[in-house]
Amino acid sequence: MDVSSAVACASDTIAAIATPPGTGGIAIIRVSGPSARQVAGRVFRPARQQRSEEPSQGHRPKWRAKLGGVFDSNGQFVDEAIMLSMLAPASYTREDVVELSCHGGPVVARAVLQAVLDAGARHASPGEFTRRAFLNGRIDLGQAEAVLQVISARTDRARRSASAFLSGQSGSIVSESREAVVQLMTRIEASLDFPEDDIPQIEVIEIGETARRIAMDLYGAASEVYRGRILWEGASVAIVGRPNVGKSRLLNALLREERAIVSDWPGTTRDTVSEVANIRGIPIQLIDTAGMREPTDAVERIGVERAKGALADANIALAVVDGSMLLSEYDQAIVAITPEDRTIVVVNKSDLAAAFDDGDLRCHVGNRRMLRVSALAGSGIDQLEAEIEALAMAREGHFDDGARSFGTRIADCLRRSAAALDDAARASSDGVPADMLSIDLRAALDALGEITGETAREDVVERIFEQFCIGK
Ligand code: GDP
Repeated sequence: MDVSSAVACASDTIAAIATPPGTGGIAIIRVSGPSARQVAGRVFRPARQQRSEEPSQGHRPKWRAKLGGVFDSNGQFVDEAIMLSMLAPASYTREDVVELSCHGGPVVARAVLQAVLDAGARHASPGEFTRRAFLNGRIDLGQAEAVLQVISARTDRARRSASAFLSGQSGSIVSESREAVVQLMTRIEASLDFPEDDIPQIEVIEIGETARRIAMDLYGAASEVYRGRILWEGASVAIVGRPNVGKSRLLNALLREERAIVSDWPGTTRDTVSEVANIRGIPIQLIDTAGMREPTDAVERIGVERAKGALADANIALAVVDGSMLLSEYDQAIVAITPEDRTIVVVNKSDLAAAFDDGDLRCHVGNRRMLRVSALAGSGIDQLEAEIEALAMAREGHFDDGARSFGTRIADCLRRSAAALDDAARASSDGVPADMLSIDLRAALDALGEITGETAREDVVERIFEQFCIGK
C-alpha cells in the first residue's frame, strides 16, 4: 500500500473515549492530530498558570500535565480534568496527542467527548489511533496485531507471548531474513547489469543453499508464531462417553471449580454444557455432551449421534470410560467414533478397584492416548492437562488470506516466504539461470513485507484495524 498518501490523508484531528464504558476512577478522552492542542485549548482552562508555563530558556517539554476544567461550547463547566499533552512525535500516534482525564462515569466522559467534538475534532473509528501509529511508522503491522493480541489475551501466557512480539523479540527474524534475501538479490542483479560476467553455476548453487537455510529459519519461526496463535484462539475439547462415567465431574475438575451441576442420579445434565477453562495458559472450551440416560437402544443411538456432532465441532476429544466397570458396547461405540490422532481415552474412577487392566483396553483404544484419572479425587488431572496441551499445540490450523487472527496471518506470510525460498533453492539445483531465481526471491521478500505492512493489501490492513475498539 502507499503509506505516504495515507499519512497525508490523516490530517484531521480525531477524538474518542479511550477507557472502557462504565464507572471507574477516571475516564480518558484521547485527542490526536495536527490541531489536537487547539481543540484542547478551546475546551480546557488550566486552574492556574503553572510553573512549566513560565518562560523557559528555549526548552519546550514534550509532555506536560495540567489540572483544570473542561467547558462546553456554551462556556458551561463540564468537569474537572487533568490535561496531558504529548507533542509529536513523542506520542502513541506520533502526532500531537492530548488526553483529558476526567471523573470516570459514562455520562461525564461522553459530555467531555462532546465538548471536544464541538471544538473541531472528529469521532475516531475503531483502531484509528493505532492505525495512525502504523501509518506514521511508529509500529509495524505485526506489532499493531500484537497490540490487539495483548488487549484480547484471555490467559496470562497468551498475554506474555504477545508482549514478546510487541517488544520486537520475535520480529527480528523477519528483518534479518529480509536483509539476507536482499543480499542474495543484489548478487543476482549485479550480474544482470554485466551480462558478460554471467554468475558461475557454483555461485547459483550457493545462493540456493543460502535460500534454503533462510527458509528453514522461517518455517521454524512460523511454528513459533503458530503456537502463539493457539494461546490466543484456544482449542475446543469434546468430552464424550456414556452416562455416569463422570464427564461432568471431569469437566469440573478441569475447570477447577464447580460450574455444571453434578448429581449422583443419572439424567441431571440434559443439555450440552460448554465452559472455557485455562489449561496451562491455553483457553480451552470444554464441551460436555451430557444427557441421554435411559438404557434403551434408541437412546444409545441418539447418544452416539450427539457425541459425533460434538466431535465434529471440537479439535480434541476426551473419550471417558468408567474404569471400575467392564466396558459396555455403548462405551466401545463411543470410543470407536473418536479420531485416533486427537483423542485421549480417559479411564475415570481410578480411586475405585479397576475392572480391567490397560492391556484389556488396548484393542479398543487403538492409537489413541490413554490415561487413568480420578475426577473425584483429582488424581491424574495434571497429566491429563499436559496431554491436552500437547494435542492443542500440535493442532494444525487452516490458513486463509484473511487477517482473522494474529498468528494466522503472520504464520501464513512466514510460510509463503519460506516456500518461495525453497522454490529458489530447488530451481538453483535444477540449473535454472540465476535471473529466474530473482522471481522467487522477490516473492519471498514480498511475503515478509506483508508482515510489517509494507506490501500488505489495503483490505488486509483494514481488517486488522477493524478488530480494535474505538479509542485504541
Ligand atoms: P456423567 O453422566 O458422565 O456426566 O457423570 P457424572 O459426572 O454426573 O458422574 C456420575 C457419578 O459418578 C456421580 O455419582 C459422580 O460423583 C461419580 N464419579 C464421577 N467421577 C468419579 C470418580 O473419579 N470416582 C468415583 N468414585 N466416582 C466418580
